[in-house]
Amino acid sequence: MTSVSLSDYPPDLSPEEEHYLLTNVKDWSIAHGLAVRPASAFVSGEQDPSGVLATTAPVTLFPSLFPQSCFEQGLGIQTAYNELYSAIARDEEWIRGIVEELVEIDDFVENLWKVHLEVKKEGYAQDLSLGLFRSDYMVHTNPETKSLGIRQVEFNTIASSFGGLSSKVSAMHRHLLAIDAYPSSTSSVIQAEALRQSKATSSLAKGLAAAHSAYGKSRSGFPLSVLFVVQDPERNVFDQRHLQYSLLEESNARSFRLPFHRTLLDTTVDADRNLLYTPPSSPSTTYEVTTLYLRAGYSPDDHPRAEDWKARVHLERSRAIKCPSILTQLAGCKKVQQVLATPHSPHLRRFLADEHVASRVLETFAPIYPLDESKAGREARKLARHPDAAARYVLKPQREGGGNNIYRQKIPEFLDTIPQKNWPAYILMEMIEPPPLRNAILRNGEVQKGGVIGELGVYGVCLWRNESGEGAGEIVENWEAGYLLRTKGDQSEEGGVAAGFGAVDSCCLV
Ligand code: ADP
Ligand code: MG
Ligand code: MG
Repeated sequence: MTSVSLSDYPPDLSPEEEHYLLTNVKDWSIAHGLAVRPASAFVSGEQDPSGVLATTAPVTLFPSLFPQSCFEQGLGIQTAYNELYSAIARDEEWIRGIVEELVEIDDFVENLWKVHLEVKKEGYAQDLSLGLFRSDYMVHTNPETKSLGIRQVEFNTIASSFGGLSSKVSAMHRHLLAIDAYPSSTSSVIQAEALRQSKATSSLAKGLAAAHSAYGKSRSGFPLSVLFVVQDPERNVFDQRHLQYSLLEESNARSFRLPFHRTLLDTTVDADRNLLYTPPSSPSTTYEVTTLYLRAGYSPDDHPRAEDWKARVHLERSRAIKCPSILTQLAGCKKVQQVLATPHSPHLRRFLADEHVASRVLETFAPIYPLDESKAGREARKLARHPDAAARYVLKPQREGGGNNIYRQKIPEFLDTIPQKNWPAYILMEMIEPPPLRNAILRNGEVQKGGVIGELGVYGVCLWRNESGEGAGEIVENWEAGYLLRTKGDQSEEGGVAAGFGAVDSCCLV
């Protein structure tokens, strides 16, 4: 059989070949927890009263082609990004400057900042902070040199998800290769050495374990535990479970899941500021929480009641190591990314002393503009109001979790719906246009084939000391922690898997 050229990848399959591939994808996914809880649109509470059903996570049938140089660029730069964002999170004065531009026009940022101020008044009880970060990129072609590089979409400092599933999907693609589920015409492309395995599950869990052990001994006398603060219900629960299982199996650290809205019911902060957790399932057992891992709290929807902001203060003032702290969460604002990307600005060098490292980070920035009264802001406002010019941009508020952006021609009409004084709450970013690719996605039991866009996420673990006490500013741990590839149909502007747009994928390096 002739081999496929890269432009024909992936090849068309006969009905029999497709059946074999799909059967294996479906069975392997469920057998290994490459799974999500079903959407309520598909299964109602009446059909699944005991909540036992799971379904395959959206995945690509083939590993997507990804340029090796771009892959290595992304992974190679992660420790520098960890250093950068931990330095920002330590710099309260600098964050205050960012937040001051937003507080009047963005309630969510204002509320986060108030939590920080309230805890600061009393003094922070914990000097260590943990970041489980994920820096997201797309491949970009330099228009002059035609060379490929990566450009950053965004940097996530809270609830960076899919590490658990990313390890699974790369293992599944390797398995499909091993059982000859890919036609022999692909053998020149899909080779074991070209398939990159993601170590994210184990590497992120090691990050939690590092914080857990750096916390030190129990002061309350209760046994120590890690606490995952989660949304409830959570469809992407298995992604989180893989981290919990790895944490227990590889580091012998127990962890529990606390639905964020139960925070004030199931936890207390004692006189010594220890965070004590009593599981509702076992009211006579209490644990001292070493590490608080937030997989909730990134969105206003997580804080519908005034009590939820009390809960944030309660957690933040405790002695548990936060992943992330409020300041680290604020460092992840899109506004921070825009300010760092300002041409010739001194900001990057403020945080990254090494010029060479700073320039490698700078190379990954896409053009991003403020929509404020500055000179650049006034020019961007003009651009954003013009449908033809706006077609090359995306408008982003200070939000996480997908589904919040406004794309291209929709930008001018959207801006017309909000008062001009609120425009600075948004940033205007140039769209990255990666080279065209094809793949097939299995989602909700249906296969969709066609043009796709890939987004590489690189995880990073960083544990550091804040600016008070002994060893202030010290980076205790810093490593690159595996990758995620998410792939979406090229007709969709959004890419979030959980938000219902993309699929988890792995890299076949070319
Ligand atoms: P969120 O924090 O909600 O995930 P993102 O900045 O990642 O916000 O935007 C969501 C999605 O929008 C991305 O996953 C990507 O698919 C798309 N997107 C965002 N910025 C760009 C950009 N500059 N170029 C192309 N696509 C983008
Ligand atoms: Mg994000
Ligand atoms: Mg994103």
